[in-house]
Amino acid sequence: NRKKQEEIEKTVQEKGITQIHMYFSDVLGDLKLLTLSAKLLPEVFEGKTMFDGSSIAGFSSIKNSDLFLRPDLDRPRYEQDGDESILAFFCDVCTPDGERYEFDPRNVLKDALERAARDGYSIFVGAEPEFFIFDENGEFYDEAGYFSTRSEDKGYEVRQHIANRLSEVGFNIEAVHHEVAPAQHEIGIKYDDALHTADNIQFFKEIVQLAAQEKGAKVSFLPKPLRDVNGSGMHLNISVWKNDKDGNPTVNAFEEPESDYGLSLTARHFIEGILKHARATAIFTNPLPESYERLVPGFEAPVNICWSPSNRSSMIRIPASRGSATRVEVRNPDPSANPYFALAALIYAGLEGIEQQLEPSAPNEDDLFEYSAKQIESQGISSLPATFHESIQSLKSDRFHDYFNHDLIDRYLSLIQVRK
Ligand code: GLN
Ligand code: MG
Ligand code: MG
Ligand code: MG
Repeated sequence: NRKKQEEIEKTVQEKGITQIHMYFSDVLGDLKLLTLSAKLLPEVFEGKTMFDGSSIAGFSSIKNSDLFLRPDLDRPRYEQDGDESILAFFCDVCTPDGERYEFDPRNVLKDALERAARDGYSIFVGAEPEFFIFDENGEFYDEAGYFSTRSEDKGYEVRQHIANRLSEVGFNIEAVHHEVAPAQHEIGIKYDDALHTADNIQFFKEIVQLAAQEKGAKVSFLPKPLRDVNGSGMHLNISVWKNDKDGNPTVNAFEEPESDYGLSLTARHFIEGILKHARATAIFTNPLPESYERLVPGFEAPVNICWSPSNRSSMIRIPASRGSATRVEVRNPDPSANPYFALAALIYAGLEGIEQQLEPSAPNEDDLFEYSAKQIESQGISSLPATFHESIQSLKSDRFHDYFNHDLIDRYLSLIQVRK
């Protein structure tokens, strides 16, 4: 730790940094920021940054409201404000005794990852957030479509500015493109371990919004801004790696070239776990009433709970790459999700599949969007919750909720029902 601190101190000196951004997330998944003077860096390292938790959605009551921030030194980030560099940390929220705070979303994901570690696994995730760009009047920024070129797409300039800003703060930007709907775009976030991918998603949304504002535009991460066009998803590409005895990932546990579809039994079990609890995890992956307006047939968003080696109408698809890139793509999550909860939920579900060695099901090879409801039912394929309320009930009625602190679930479910 001392070594990481020294490196950060050195960069602060070199870049002449005077401010530190301390980030954490509330129970809804809204990002929170506390700006500190860089003079406080020694106190920041010691986890002595105190704040009042009573005004943070889902955090402590007025009585026990002092909470502390402990920065994650594994991923210091450097933001740019004009010519000025700012040091930024994603933080764990801690109690006055130095324990991880149970309602901190980051802590919830850490619990899930500790379970994975006890089972001998590390989890890696890449995310594909989609979003709409609107102009200052709230109109679509462009009328272009899937993979439109620069000459066709008025939004290109804003999107490129966003991508540059993301690179500037350390994102490894690989694929950037126009999506199917007018003014809809996608920028992929390169995979990282699950915890840092959740941080990356939070940071991504903030930087994307800021960059758009610099161009007089506004970004929406809502899952279904318009009824008649595709909504925005956030596909999550998950892979599970086997750890060595020191807990370090060694090989991709999903890949097995000799087996059906090139997938190991571990992968098949993991898929079954996610399918088994898909109705219960939906309120984490799809937390808004509008999330369920996206999950309807005909807009490239999944409706049915099944998997497929390639077919995009399934909830889980297996992208064609194999070897160390073997992964499952979960397609129902959307960018309004609290990424810490969404990932914790999917990881608990997938691990249960592995722990209980759930029987692998046959993949669905057909385009389900071509089927009638009757045909789907006769194949025994169930569907994701059709409404927000059905989704809430699905979590309540599945013992799956026992993986989480019950008070946390209560707070989360009441907050999402009253938020505006
Ligand atoms: N926008 C689609 C969704 O809602 C996904 C489209 C795509 O990436 N092929 O999930
Ligand atoms: Mg994509
Ligand atoms: Mg896409
Ligand atoms: Mg995808």
